[in-house]
Amino acid sequence: MRNMTEVDAIVIGAGPGGYHAAIRLGQLGKKVVCFDRDEVGGVCLNWGCIPTKALLHVGEVARHIREAGKIGLKVAAPEVDREGVAKFTESVVKANVGGVNQLFKANNVDFAYGEASFTGPKEVALKKRDGSTETYVAKDAVVIATGSAPVDVKAWPRDGETIINSDDAVQLKRIPKTMLVIGGGVIGLEFATVYTRMGAKVLVVEMMSQVLTGTDLEISKTMARILKKQGVEIALGTKLVSLEKTASGVKAVINGEFTNEKDETREFEVALVAVGRRPVTDNLNLAAAGLAVDERGFLAVDAQRKTVVDGIYAIGDVAGAPLLAHKAMKEGTVAAEAIAGDASSAYDPVAVPNCVYTDPEVATVGLSEEEAKAAGYELRIGKFPLLASGRARTMNESDGMIKLIGDAKTDLLLGMHIIAPQAESLIGEGVIALEMGATLEDIGLSIHPHPTLTESIMDAAEASHSKAIHVVNPKPKPVPVGAGAK
Ligand SMILES: Cc1cc2nc3c(=O)[nH]c(=O)nc-3n(C[C@H](O)[C@H](O)[C@H](O)COP(=O)(O)OP(=O)(O)OC[C@H]3O[C@@H](n4cnc5c(N)ncnc54)[C@H](O)[C@@H]3O)c2cc1C
Repeated sequence: MRNMTEVDAIVIGAGPGGYHAAIRLGQLGKKVVCFDRDEVGGVCLNWGCIPTKALLHVGEVARHIREAGKIGLKVAAPEVDREGVAKFTESVVKANVGGVNQLFKANNVDFAYGEASFTGPKEVALKKRDGSTETYVAKDAVVIATGSAPVDVKAWPRDGETIINSDDAVQLKRIPKTMLVIGGGVIGLEFATVYTRMGAKVLVVEMMSQVLTGTDLEISKTMARILKKQGVEIALGTKLVSLEKTASGVKAVINGEFTNEKDETREFEVALVAVGRRPVTDNLNLAAAGLAVDERGFLAVDAQRKTVVDGIYAIGDVAGAPLLAHKAMKEGTVAAEAIAGDASSAYDPVAVPNCVYTDPEVATVGLSEEEAKAAGYELRIGKFPLLASGRARTMNESDGMIKLIGDAKTDLLLGMHIIAPQAESLIGEGVIALEMGATLEDIGLSIHPHPTLTESIMDAAEASHSKAIHVVNPKPKPVPVGAGAK
């Protein structure tokens, strides 16, 4: 018999999905081992959420310093010390990674570095860093949490210096004077914000007619306007025709609405390719487990995150959209509890929030106006501009808005959309409201603290009923006689 280590559960990948699953399994008394070929924390802690937000924070502080004169402070212009910034982001990453390692120890999770691949449905070979291979067998389950990686485009080959992806962009050793960002999605706009704040002149090329495709159109347009005001050029409805390396960087030809449908050539020091991410299953040898990916490369799962093969679960980016850390985390917990025998454990959110850490941030949850219309709802919409918020004025941060989408028949909240400083925190109110089935009236009736940005959410809810005090109300729609909702 081959030499095998027997455990209750194996988790492949120690990103936010994997480490949540492993820790919860440990808490539930399972003998669990978690593998990763890289540092624990996955993309989120090492290349994604955490380092980008540290960089964005630096950019935001630089902006506050630059704008200090507007609030009566005399401060010298900030100078970016790229090495100092790198030290800061590395220390933030290290602290987070160290935290997960400690939690693994505290919850009896065995972690091992290595490349994992299936040798059978519940059998996994781990190729370790020293070249040796160890085989593990899981009594209960294997959880696949191998995440996603940037899509590389063959025509624009990455070299990590002039043609880069998001992994390179978090650790770029210099601030380019000019940068082309290919893709106006979340990752593209966050890096456009980082590098603009640090002094680069950035052009974002997006072939769709809006940035942040899928986001409420008014919110997307408002954010694009704010970014342009900050100096980011945005070319919508425009394609990158070609990208060539030159002695000093890259030469790009673009064509579309932005260039009046003519080829336009521009030179940049750096081009960031941010056109999407793909699930990672390359080295897993899924066939040995009896598994196959769908046409887009994802693993299909049920509400408990079980795949079609008994005892194999998939969570996080590898299990499909939305590719977000908090979705991966919840799935990790759900899968662990299901493995431990909790039949009620299910991934069944009303809505998953989505945040974009531009400056100000964008945060949304639930349906956009376009989605709600397409779903056949008659809409009740409430809006509140930050320009009318006393708190936003005290912060000298009046660019932004709150938009609430409600069902005119039942008054139920369908979606919340925010552009504001710390929108990512404010959106928590929308998440709870949607999960609890709140109406717009409920939100408007709840006393919010003053002066805060959260009271703008209450103001927007009041505006939806033409009862706002701090903005001029839209004329109320005539209510048909006998209609139930206000
Ligand atoms: C620049 C950027 C910014 C982002 N910002 C945010 C944000 O602000 N908020 C948010 O919610 N999301 C953000 N994301 C997305 C977020 O990082 C992902 O949704 C999240 O990391 C997915 O978690 P996961 O556990 O599914 O996989 P991952 O974090 O991708 O982790 C998978 C792990 O599996 C390992 N692995 C893969 N194959 C194997 C194998 N065969 N053997 C061993 N190990 C293997 C990998 O090394 C990796 O560590 C961002 C992403 C990027 C790129």
